[in-house]
Amino acid sequence: MQSRALLIFYALIAILSLCSGALAAQAQEKTAVSRPDFPFAIHILIFEGVEEEPVLGIIPGLEREFGFPVVVLDARPAVDPEWKDPERNQYQALRVLEAATAWVPENSARFLAFFPEDLYIGQMGFVFGLAHPDGRGAVISQFRLLSGEKKRQTQRLYGEALHELGHTFGLEHCPAQAQCVMRVARTVQAADARPNVFEPACRQKLDAAIRDLKSELIQKQTAKGKSAETGVQEKEEKSSEK
Ligand SMILES: [Zn+2]
Ligand SMILES: [Zn+2]
Repeated sequence: MQSRALLIFYALIAILSLCSGALAAQAQEKTAVSRPDFPFAIHILIFEGVEEEPVLGIIPGLEREFGFPVVVLDARPAVDPEWKDPERNQYQALRVLEAATAWVPENSARFLAFFPEDLYIGQMGFVFGLAHPDGRGAVISQFRLLSGEKKRQTQRLYGEALHELGHTFGLEHCPAQAQCVMRVARTVQAADARPNVFEPACRQKLDAAIRDLKSELIQKQTAKGKSAETGVQEKEEKSSEK
C-alpha cells in the first residue's frame, strides 16, 4: 500500500516535471522527502561553503510545522564576490535572495537558501536572515548562528528558518514578551531565548496561509494539467486533418 502511494507520488512529480518544462534546476533535485503528501515542496538551497549537517537537522521540524515535503536541491551555487560590500566586508542580503530565487524550481511552495557569509540590509549592522518581499522564499546566514555546541546550532538555525518562513506566509513580528518564534531577535542570545514555536495567534494565521497556498497550488496544477491536455487534443486534431 505504501509503495503504491509512493508510486503515485512519483508519477505526480513526473507529470509536474513535464508540465513545467525541462527546468535545469529540477533535474538537480534530490528528493529528501519523508512525508510525500503534497506535490509541491519547500526547497532548500545550500550555497557553497555552508555547513550542511545543521541544515539537514532542521528538515523534519519544517515538514511537521508547515505540512509540505522539504526537498534539498543538489546544486551548490558559489558565493559571488559581486554581492559583497568591500567596506563592510558583508554581503547584501537582497542580492543573495534574488540570486537564490533564480535557482529554485517552479514546483516550489517556498524556499529557504542557506548562506555561509555575513548578511546585511540597509542601515542594519547585520541580519540573520531575510524573507522575500513577494513571499516566495528567504535567505538565512549561518555566519553568526553557528556558535556553541552542535545541538544548539541546529536549534538556532531551526528557529531562524521558522521565523523567516513565517514572514513568507505573511506573519509579522510578535511583541517582545510573546512566547513566539516571530519575536524579533537581534542577538544570538535573543535568538536562543526565543521559543521555536508559533504562539496560537500566529499559528492560526499561518495555518490559514498554508491552506490558501495549498489550494492555490493545486488549482495551478489542475489548470496546467488541463492546458497540457488541450494541447495534446489540438495536436491530434491537426494530425488527423492531414
Ligand atoms: Zn523577522
Ligand atoms: Zn507570534
